[in-house]
Amino acid sequence: MTVENIITEQQASSIAATCGGEDLRECLTCDKCLSTCFLKDAYPNMNPRELPRKIYHGRIQELVDSEFIWACTLCSRCTVDCPKGLQMDLIVRTLRHLAESQGKAPKRLVEGIEKINEVGNSVGIDSQEFVETLEWLGEEAAAEIDYIDEETFSVPIDKNGVEFLYIPNPREYTSMPHMFSVYLKFFSAVKADWTFASDVCDISNWAYFMGDQETCTKLLRNIVDAAGRLGVKTLVSTECGHGFSILRRDAEKMLGQPLGFEVVSVVELAHRYFEEGRLRLKQGHVKERVTYHDPCEVSRKLGVYEPPRELLKFVAQDYIEMSPHGKYGLCCGGGGGVAQNADMGRKRLENAKEKHDQIAQTGAAIVATSCQACLAQLNDIVTFYNMTVNVKSVMELVVESLAD
Ligand code: SF4
Ligand code: SF4
Repeated sequence: MTVENIITEQQASSIAATCGGEDLRECLTCDKCLSTCFLKDAYPNMNPRELPRKIYHGRIQELVDSEFIWACTLCSRCTVDCPKGLQMDLIVRTLRHLAESQGKAPKRLVEGIEKINEVGNSVGIDSQEFVETLEWLGEEAAAEIDYIDEETFSVPIDKNGVEFLYIPNPREYTSMPHMFSVYLKFFSAVKADWTFASDVCDISNWAYFMGDQETCTKLLRNIVDAAGRLGVKTLVSTECGHGFSILRRDAEKMLGQPLGFEVVSVVELAHRYFEEGRLRLKQGHVKERVTYHDPCEVSRKLGVYEPPRELLKFVAQDYIEMSPHGKYGLCCGGGGGVAQNADMGRKRLENAKEKHDQIAQTGAAIVATSCQACLAQLNDIVTFYNMTVNVKSVMELVVESLAD
């Protein structure tokens, strides 16, 4: 069977319609997308410029069979200057979903989706296990925090009518438990009226990486229902790029209803409190040089550039920008499900060489970011390239710099 025979004509036209329809034909082959894609050297035979026309001309199976669609981090850098507004992120996710339906998706991502469908999250824990973990981590953290009364403190879970519902990323209570203390310290320091929801242990959405709209919507529905049940005014996302971005940008459209509450990231909330004087920080507390890595989902896709920078510029004595940054910020190479895809092996880090160079050029001792996938990838880059750089989240530096 030739590759063209695998996909039916009907499938091909439906995929073309989802990916841009007639706009695909309008691609100017101007190379603006290609020149900004950090994978251009790693995949000489496949790149973002190839995608629109191949889809338009029905050569979809070639794309589905290409490793490129799994190496792409959905960073959207290639989309910024596309004169035709073609959305590579959408195109790649659509191709991935087709690959999944053909049994060609990476095993680890498929397992994550299976867990979501079985228990509702990619970690595979139930509500009782989540609550027990929160209680245990809460006890440990409270013992370390001098402004928390260990005797009376308990982690807020399922509190009705509070202002904030906080949604964590599982890394906070699995591989990076120190991050749990960071957020707990922050909420306690600003005396926030907040809660976890016992049935929402995971803001991440692997179905989004896979282009699986149905499962992606189901996960969003779970979060939105919990916020409605608890009657909160604001949903606070942890430092998780894609989890935050889907909730803020896509949830209303995907669910077909207004959310009825605001969606902010914990960094935005800290910045808001900082501006109001409710979060008091020691200016210049961090002595080492600090740079900021823009998480693609938070910066380029949502336009949240300044709040993390203003916090960092206040707490750091010496702040330096990477070049380029902001809208043209270079992806860390771990987003879009790439970090979760074990099949990528060393390539995930080899493909991040440009990011390594960019960090090294700043001479910074600390690289801060506000996405836990970026944090994990940056830590891996530091190890892989033997760098002497510390990787911290913006909130870690904020909490380290608390005034009282
Ligand atoms: S930037 Fe847009 S128009 Fe230009 S080659 Fe890429 S997809 Fe086509
Ligand atoms: S989304 Fe990022 S990784 Fe994917 S094709 Fe565009 S620039 Fe390259």
